[in-house]
Amino acid sequence: MSILRVTDLDVRYGQFRAVRDVSFNVEQGEILAIVGANGAGKTTLLRALAGANPVKAGTVHLSGTDITHMPSHLRVASGLALVPEGRKLFLDMTVEENLKLGRTVGRMGDWTVERIFETFPNLVKRRHAATGTMSGGEQQATAIGRALMSNPDVLILDEVSLGLSPLVVDQVYASLEGLMTTGTTIILVEQDLSRAMAVADRVVCMLEGHVVLDSPMGATTREAITAAYFGTEAQAGPQGEHA
Ligand code: ATP
Repeated sequence: MSILRVTDLDVRYGQFRAVRDVSFNVEQGEILAIVGANGAGKTTLLRALAGANPVKAGTVHLSGTDITHMPSHLRVASGLALVPEGRKLFLDMTVEENLKLGRTVGRMGDWTVERIFETFPNLVKRRHAATGTMSGGEQQATAIGRALMSNPDVLILDEVSLGLSPLVVDQVYASLEGLMTTGTTIILVEQDLSRAMAVADRVVCMLEGHVVLDSPMGATTREAITAAYFGTEAQAGPQGEHA
């Protein structure tokens, strides 16, 4: 059974359908990259999965349970954690305090403050620093760590690279590699196609609110993903599925 099942999802801003008839599944332990140009609907989709945007039509199932209209705090308690674009940390609190906030949902699991510091060693020396004084990369690692503290079954990352220098993005991804070996199911939105292709097992490409490509990474090509990304071909690739 897929750990996350998204079926015919429709999310609107007023009359505007920002996400249209989106369907895809995510398997346990899989790393799914969602790619697409600016305005394709990626953030809207992730926010809908996390319960931050209401769903107009369609369903979202987490481990077989229908969570389509569940409030976001109950989704976290059910095992779905979002690291939002822009991180949303409490900037006057320390790294450790921010991490401990993630624990408040009370889900059982292996993640502890110490394990977060092992996964993100660059945070160790910043343990008692106010997050507002830290670099973008350190803040991003703290935001990911805070989400992990809720012991999620599915971790959703929205553009972890945003606003970071290439060097810092390298550091964040190096930390994520440690996380990827733990078997956590991860959905990530990534603008940088090369990075997405390097880390993900599967890719979903969105264009103008709908899915134009859904494929195992090994069964598609950079050319097919690029064509889907820009909508330059009717056929996106050998495994393409058109909405
Ligand atoms: P980006 O990579 O630029 O973040 P995205 O793929 O995440 O883009 P969204 O931010 O989900 O795309 O936006 C999808 C569409 O919905 C865009 O046309 C955007 O202008 C529109 N949109 C996003 N947020 C709102 C909002 N709060 N109200 C109205 N329209 C919105």
